[in-house]
Amino acid sequence: MDVMAMVEEDAQASTAAAFTTLAVDYLAATRDRSGQASTKRSPADLAAQFAEPLPTEGRPIADVLARLRDEILPDCNHLYHPRYMGHQVSAPLPAAIWTEPLISALNQSLAVWEMSPVATVLEHQVIGWLTTLVGWGRTAGGTLTTGGTEATATGLLAARSALLPDVWTAGIGRGAELPVLICGEHAHYAIRRAAGTLGLGTDQVRAVRSRDHRMDVAALAEALETTRRQGRAVLAVVATAGSTPTGSFDDLEAIGSLCDTHDVWLHVDAAHGGSALLSPRSRQLLRGIERARSVALDPHKMMLLPLQAGTLLVRDVRQLDAAFVQRAPYLFHDGADERTWDLGGRSFLCSRRADVLKLWVALQRYGADGIGALYDRLCQTARALFDAVARHPAFAAAHEPACNILCFRYVGRRGEFPLDGSCGPQASAAGDALNQAIRTRYNRSGEGWITSTVLDGRRVLRVTVMNPRTTHADVRAVVTELARIGDALAGPGDDPRSQPA
Ligand SMILES: *Cc1c(COP(=O)(O)O)cnc(C)c1O
Repeated sequence: MDVMAMVEEDAQASTAAAFTTLAVDYLAATRDRSGQASTKRSPADLAAQFAEPLPTEGRPIADVLARLRDEILPDCNHLYHPRYMGHQVSAPLPAAIWTEPLISALNQSLAVWEMSPVATVLEHQVIGWLTTLVGWGRTAGGTLTTGGTEATATGLLAARSALLPDVWTAGIGRGAELPVLICGEHAHYAIRRAAGTLGLGTDQVRAVRSRDHRMDVAALAEALETTRRQGRAVLAVVATAGSTPTGSFDDLEAIGSLCDTHDVWLHVDAAHGGSALLSPRSRQLLRGIERARSVALDPHKMMLLPLQAGTLLVRDVRQLDAAFVQRAPYLFHDGADERTWDLGGRSFLCSRRADVLKLWVALQRYGADGIGALYDRLCQTARALFDAVARHPAFAAAHEPACNILCFRYVGRRGEFPLDGSCGPQASAAGDALNQAIRTRYNRSGEGWITSTVLDGRRVLRVTVMNPRTTHADVRAVVTELARIGDALAGPGDDPRSQPA
């Protein structure tokens, strides 16, 4: 078949419907908890399945669809399965999913207004809604990003230009001339990654210790004082709203006030928790966010959009414009009125998807209140998990959930492997290995899927609820199943309660 004939055949509704049906069938098949949450196969096994020569000739679209259905879908992570409670990736909102083909079909690039006349103005509009929610006025602005990593790096780039106006051409300096970057010890690795890529060097990162998994404000005050005494400039303080390990929110009011006193740029990494702005119930966790000069907020996290959809919001958008100093006469036309709408100057990227469309559609369809209600729903499910863990004799929660994330530990029927390590190093290490093994065995069962992390030196199990379908009964069932595995792995011991009946 001639390739142009293929192109026209695939442009038909029947082909489009066949693709959509695959996705619809997936959404339906996961609804009743049947089927596996993730794959049981190894990477090597999966790789072997696809190890084949580059296809030189095409094939009928029906064959390709059959391969998607039979070879790809079964072994993907099924984020819409109610027992998938793994990493911080959403079971995405359907109206946003169905916008994706349209985004691709239209293929508007956000580099400059003339490449995306409607999408560019929509992005200005949607960013305006978000900066208003933060509590900022008309000077604010921002850009969509691929996620929190890019948003934070870009926000810190703006901070770098604000501190060192000639940095784009002169570079960043060496040794004691280098500014320091201050963040919490539980900050996302995106912060160190930014320090590395911005030429600052990760040696310049100062990690402030936590108290109850939030940045210790007194320790931050000390760190600021120390850098001032040393004559070192501070590039920025990065606070976290919705930390990765525990979902904790730093005290933005207190941190913002310290940053104001020291005249230091505050960047809030609210990639995860920023969506609480839409929830009247949780919004107070972000009190003080308006004191930030830049905020990273990922709609592809708790606004439940499909990847990618991040945002960087900046209190004074001129500071973002100053972050990149770029000439490209073929793209950025000086002087024209349209130029003021161009967004390419605010982003690392040149070609950039119109991901704003799915964000706009999600807000049109569900409203800010609807999405805020979903945020609350996910948090309430995590709270139900906390309750189940707290009631169970063989588990201990590592913290109360501030949002939809909970870390907890199988501590044994007699509390042999406590969180605080008071059982001594040997039993602690055994407990760490046991919790690791519980996770591995549970995930391999296919029934559900969870993560784990090391928190305060101890291996813990970790659940993030990113799927509105997950019910309180689901999280209780997970606890029961993890206990069963833990008891079996820990062995009968001498407690009659843990003997098999
Ligand atoms: C997810 C996350 C990031 C990274 O964002 P990406 O969208 O994955 O690039 C950074 N910080 C926090 C707190 C996050 O939750």
